[in-house]
Amino acid sequence: MKCKICGQNSGKYIVCQEHRNTKYKDICKIHGNAWFINRQCQKCKELKNALYLISDNKDRFGNVIDKNHFLYTYKNRLTHLTRRYQAKYMKRISGTSGIYGIFHNNTCLYVGQSINITNRIKQHKENFKTAKYHLNGLRLHKKRISISKIPHKVEYKYYEMARAYNAYELSYKTLFVVSRLSDDFEYNELLTYAEQAMIESYKPKYNHIAARPTRKENLNYK
Ligand SMILES: [Zn+2]
Ligand SMILES: [Zn+2]
Repeated sequence: MKCKICGQNSGKYIVCQEHRNTKYKDICKIHGNAWFINRQCQKCKELKNALYLISDNKDRFGNVIDKNHFLYTYKNRLTHLTRRYQAKYMKRISGTSGIYGIFHNNTCLYVGQSINITNRIKQHKENFKTAKYHLNGLRLHKKRISISKIPHKVEYKYYEMARAYNAYELSYKTLFVVSRLSDDFEYNELLTYAEQAMIESYKPKYNHIAARPTRKENLNYK
């Protein structure tokens, strides 16, 4: 191979020895154009870090979760990170806010957060359909063309799921009901802790990144 940066022979590596820690631009299958170091997309690397976990009875900032802490009421569910413990809280889909899961039989495919789960699932179904039509149009089901080589109409994960499953084989569940908190920052934090807890418990196949706040309001972090 030729080094991505200097063009010299780099053997079986994407960059030569000298450029092992040098940033270069490449295409990430999830992020598109991105910075890479030694084959790894730096955005993916940052996003794989699970930040929203309780450890030693402390939140992600190191504050102790005592009974005045907004996570206190949820502590049990946020720290018993096994599917066995969490499964009894599974409910059918409704318009509540919280965490949902997409399943194929017993396999969890995807876990996400939403302020209205019913609406979010509708979006998922539409995106899944779009990916399916797109893949069928390209006749990818006959040839195994890399999904990363086609321009995406919806997020990467929908293509992965659409290639592996049919819409009627998927089921949707509410995993964790999160009630609205008056403080917007705390509410978003709680949703994200709950999402990470469900990712740890259900081990979804297509969550490529750790839980992060998804709503716009989060840009105004205190
Ligand atoms: Zn080089
Ligand atoms: Zn990436």
